[in-house]
Amino acid sequence: MRDRDKTKEQLIAEVRELRTALAHAATPSPADRSRAAAEHDAHDGAEAETRDGYLSRESLAAHPANGFHAVEGHDQPIGADPAALAAERRQAAAQYAVGRLVAETDSLDDIIPRILAAIGGSLAWDFGACWRPHDGGLRCVATWHAGPVGGEFERQTQRVTMAPGEGLPGSVLQADRPLWVEDVQRSTNFPRLEYAAREGMRGAFAFPVRDERGTWGIFEFFARVPEEPDAGLLQALDAIRDQIGQCVRRLRATEALRESEARKGAILEAALEAVVSMDASGRIIEFNPAAEAMFGYPRERALGAQMVELIVPPALRQGHLAGLRRYLDGGAPRILGQRVELSALRADGTEFPIELTITRVALPGAPSFTAYIRDISERKRREAEVARLLSSEREARLDAEAASARIQFLSEGTARLAGSLDYQATLRQLADIFVPKVADWCVIHLPVDGTLRQAAIAAVDDELAVALRDLAAEYTTANLDAPHGVGHVLRTGEPELIPHVTDDMLAAIAAGDARHLELLRRLRPASEMAVPLEANGHILGVVLLVSTGTPRGPAARRPYTTDDLSLVRELARRAALAMDNARLYGESQRALGQVAEIARELGQQASELNAIIEAIPGAVIVCDAAGHILRGNAGSETIFGRSRGDTPSTAAGLAASGILRALDGEPLPPEDFPLARALRGEMRTDARYLLRREGPRRRVRELPIQCSYAPIRDHDGTITGAVTVAADISTLYQLERQKDEFLSVASHELKTPLTTLKILTQLTRKRLEKLDLLDSGHTVRMERAIGRMERLIGDLLDVSRIELGRLALRIEPSDLTAICRQAAEDHTEAAERPITLDLPEELVVLPLDAERIEQVLANLLSNALKYSLPQRPVVLRLRAKAGEARVTVEDAGGGIPPDALPHIFERFYRVPGVQVQSGSGVGLGIGLYISKEIIERHGGRMWAESELGRGSRFSFALPLTPLPSLP
Ligand code: ADP
Repeated sequence: MRDRDKTKEQLIAEVRELRTALAHAATPSPADRSRAAAEHDAHDGAEAETRDGYLSRESLAAHPANGFHAVEGHDQPIGADPAALAAERRQAAAQYAVGRLVAETDSLDDIIPRILAAIGGSLAWDFGACWRPHDGGLRCVATWHAGPVGGEFERQTQRVTMAPGEGLPGSVLQADRPLWVEDVQRSTNFPRLEYAAREGMRGAFAFPVRDERGTWGIFEFFARVPEEPDAGLLQALDAIRDQIGQCVRRLRATEALRESEARKGAILEAALEAVVSMDASGRIIEFNPAAEAMFGYPRERALGAQMVELIVPPALRQGHLAGLRRYLDGGAPRILGQRVELSALRADGTEFPIELTITRVALPGAPSFTAYIRDISERKRREAEVARLLSSEREARLDAEAASARIQFLSEGTARLAGSLDYQATLRQLADIFVPKVADWCVIHLPVDGTLRQAAIAAVDDELAVALRDLAAEYTTANLDAPHGVGHVLRTGEPELIPHVTDDMLAAIAAGDARHLELLRRLRPASEMAVPLEANGHILGVVLLVSTGTPRGPAARRPYTTDDLSLVRELARRAALAMDNARLYGESQRALGQVAEIARELGQQASELNAIIEAIPGAVIVCDAAGHILRGNAGSETIFGRSRGDTPSTAAGLAASGILRALDGEPLPPEDFPLARALRGEMRTDARYLLRREGPRRRVRELPIQCSYAPIRDHDGTITGAVTVAADISTLYQLERQKDEFLSVASHELKTPLTTLKILTQLTRKRLEKLDLLDSGHTVRMERAIGRMERLIGDLLDVSRIELGRLALRIEPSDLTAICRQAAEDHTEAAERPITLDLPEELVVLPLDAERIEQVLANLLSNALKYSLPQRPVVLRLRAKAGEARVTVEDAGGGIPPDALPHIFERFYRVPGVQVQSGSGVGLGIGLYISKEIIERHGGRMWAESELGRGSRFSFALPLTPLPSLP
């Protein structure tokens, strides 16, 4: 009975039987094996062999040279003989075992060891291995062995890899068919031969298992006996191979599915994107957790709901439904597979931006769609933020660029201005800086004599330049009093900005002057700025900047803005400073010129002064306000007898040196030193001192000197120094001394006979009176003459006393009123002319030498009478006030010429040409000298005032010192 004739039931029964048999007897006994090996040995050499001893089914007949036996299946009746039957049973057992495990196994991981065990076990072979493709060759992935312990051959098998064509597995891989080896130990292509020999491995077979991609794996089995090629087994193996291959494919597909499902699940679970699927009717069939979170619906609520109603905002629903309908009606997909941005609706009714990709699920039948949705609110927010940042960044950059352009403009402008110290050049520079950068034309106006003049112009092109020149030529001045425009800017310092200049404005400026209007129009003003040039509070001028509005160059000029105005103001401010600098520079240059001129003049004057000082006979000493001696001439060396270097450097030092003494030989107090007096403002021309000088052999000589001293005052009267001029008057002094001595002696000598003469005259007059003889007044006249002579001699004596320092005063409290009255009476009597008295009622008592004061009054009154005509009044006045008693004698005579007035108190001075007007007697010119000396000796002062032709007034004042109270 052939297998194919058996019924299904019969086969099942037989398999059951086989299964039982398998459990008990299927494994061949070792005895069977040794028998089989002996049989094999007996056939040794008889069988045609391949070079490496491998046999394929084909070579069973052909004995190919490589020794591989590829075994083709051929019909063989089952159970024809007992051995064949056993073999057949083994094959069936293997097939069964494999079939069962293939059906039961649902994992690729454990199918290989189970196949090895099933085949090796059921066919009663000793060792099996499975090789899988690896790196272009083969690697052993699992082994099986019949006994409890694997041997060295198993370990070696696990270690090695086989290249295609190498060893048994390599040959199977290459041949892609089962191969049979009767005895590996005789094979020439068996790298594991050494180990196989040690373990006694002899027979072997191997077969490939294929899947859809090619060789999936190679199974090999070894027996310790040589095995003849078993065509039946090989045939059975084809089925087994198929089964295994199918199983591998199934398991791999299952695993791939599992994997992909797991992956999909994981993706869906973990996706940040919401995944929403809907079927063709628009019902939601998938709604992942991200979708739940995004839309705010739980999955259970979403599934089955109409998607359009759930998550599409009302405004978009119509479009969505229409699109779906169109697609289902066969229209071209519009948004499938594309990324679009839309709005979506949340459960709470809020809309939010999403990004959406819709794919059609690739399944046959009614289409379903999956949408991958991303909430892009955050992205939109960020985009908006970025856009905002970008725009603010752009604004900031524009600002920064504008600011840097401003700074650059200013700094360039400033640099150009700074270079110029020429006023006019600065103006031209300024105009050039503004045109064309800021203006199409520019005029700088400066105020000149109450009007505004165009001091600099600049224009961007010739046409405008010509128009400007014409305007400047024909309308040179601008109106300073205008309520606006440059005049107004100049007046107020307030800048003016007219963004849009109209023709009406031009007409207003032209004020009906057609020619003016025409010129203004030629200048095409569209926008205008006028800024003051202001420096240090002064408005120096006005800059007028005009844009014609015509685009020129890269930037079309806009109407001026306040920004433009402030930029221009800033540059104008700097320009004004530069102009002011230029002006100051010009002035300083001029001043320098003047200074040089002054210096030259000063130098001239100084050298003149030098020459004068040096030429002055005598010593000239000049000191500053602090008393530092600035200079002394050569004469100062001669007189002071010192080299210039020795001269004390200060006036005080000079005074302290004790070099000067008073005429009486007393040391001069420092404060009386001529320079000290001069520094206090005193001035004298005739001060006399004794100069102590060390002569040869240390002999001290006293030299009389006469000093003039005076303060040096600056233009406002402040004392800045002093000068003294000292002259050696020793010769003069000597002569004066001699003269004084002579005067003294002479007057004494004259006085003695005169006194005798006076007494004799008086005696004679008395005798004649007694004899009653009339002498016709001769003796009286004699007496008067003698009296006058006495006074003359007295005066001369006084002079010599004064000069010799011997004028003594007898001071006692006296009534000056009485003295004045008596003096007036005496003179009235003598001159027979009335003297007007102006005396106080009360006594004016003060300490004085009454006789000497009478002498002074007599002198003043006799002069007043003498130098005025008889009919003219003479007034004697006494006033006591402000701590002094002041006496004035006033006449209405011819007066004293101004140039003579300063000298009238000098000794022997008489005003040249003055005639005695009344009375007799020619003066000696010493009365006033003595009077002044007397008054000054009283601690008072004396002075004269006079006007030529109107009279003179002589006054003296005595201090009203309080008297000691009388007991
Ligand atoms: P004399 O004895 O010459 O008057 P004085 O010293 O008294 O000398 O006066 C000096 C000079 O001053 C006089 O010579 C005279 O020229 C002038 N003088 C003095 N007093 C008067 C006066 N009252 N009017 C005009 N000239 C006067």
